[in-house]
Amino acid sequence: MPSSVLIVEDEAAILELIAINLEYAGYVPLRARSVEEAQGLVKGALPDVVLLDWMLPGESGLAFARRLRADQRTKSIPIIMLTARAEERDKIAGLESGADDYVTKPFSPKELVARIKAVLRRRAPELTDDTVEIDGLRLDPVAHRITGNGREIEMGPTEFRLLHFLMTHPDRIYSRTQLLDALWGDHVFVDERTVDVHIRRLRQALSGSGCDRLIATVRGSGYGLRAR
Ligand code: CA
Repeated sequence: MPSSVLIVEDEAAILELIAINLEYAGYVPLRARSVEEAQGLVKGALPDVVLLDWMLPGESGLAFARRLRADQRTKSIPIIMLTARAEERDKIAGLESGADDYVTKPFSPKELVARIKAVLRRRAPELTDDTVEIDGLRLDPVAHRITGNGREIEMGPTEFRLLHFLMTHPDRIYSRTQLLDALWGDHVFVDERTVDVHIRRLRQALSGSGCDRLIATVRGSGYGLRAR
């Protein structure tokens, strides 16, 4: 699933340049010309990354970044600040507002895409397209291919996403609610038992290769993937 990037930038030419480059790099760009517009979009669905211009008409990017960080629903969205200010104290103010990274204008679109990829990898490793391999189990998100101890494994798209999430967050236990939020998004109401069903199917799909033993169930708490 391609990652969505919300671009908040009041200069139309820069907004379009960024959007086109992101589209070309395989992301889904969402365009906002002000904090107000951005807020409306965030309300509808959470983007995977926010690219936020500092100087905006109305509320500043800095203030919006602080607000995103203060809200439980939006606090973990990666934020990259865009700015024409190159001064060190501005950079510190940007990072203190909760931004994950900082790009000074003028920037090359290539550099921007690399920074987006880097924050996604840090904040949400399941959203990058790197191949993951754990103990004989290998998942390639680009080719949409899974092998377990050399054997090709077939599974449905939800099981694929679930496995991708667990493999990029190994050795941690996630509750059903956390898995629902991570995989179905925060605006979707799905019964928690749905998670059990997909875990069961995932184990079934992995059982032929012996990799099903990697999936851990902690009674009453949730599920995880053991890296050892
Ligand atoms: Ca601006």
